[in-house]
Amino acid sequence: MDCLFCKISNKEIDADILYEDEDVIGFRDIHPQAPYHILFIPRIHVSTLNELETEHATLVGKLTLAAKNTALKLGVAEDGYRILMNCNNHGGQTVFHIHLHLLAGRRMGWPPG
Ligand code: AMP
Ligand code: ZN
Repeated sequence: MDCLFCKISNKEIDADILYEDEDVIGFRDIHPQAPYHILFIPRIHVSTLNELETEHATLVGKLTLAAKNTALKLGVAEDGYRILMNCNNHGGQTVFHIHLHLLAGRRMGWPPG
């Protein structure tokens, strides 16, 4: 399958990896929108949030825990951070392998654009 994030997970394409376990990999976003911008993806391919099934519940929890643990490691947890997932056109999704954004290092605006 021709998927950019599967290729990063398989190490066919380089990324600045900050987190890795058997199910999840976390790497720096190539166009950071904050001083810290890290993407957490499942190693298995799931295109969008709309394809999530009950069987993926633990995996999605693991993405969240990986983001939290990375925020702690980076020393930004106390100040705070934002995690989010975009879905399809209106959500602003551009890479169709689900990913959790971790944004930190500055105060985030609300509502989002
Ligand atoms: P989204 O718009 O939610 O689908 O997010 C996709 C993100 O992937 C964007 O923030 C891109 O900057 C990022 N991105 C695209 N290609 C790469 C890459 N090769 N390495 C790291 N991040 C990437
Ligand atoms: Zn993929």
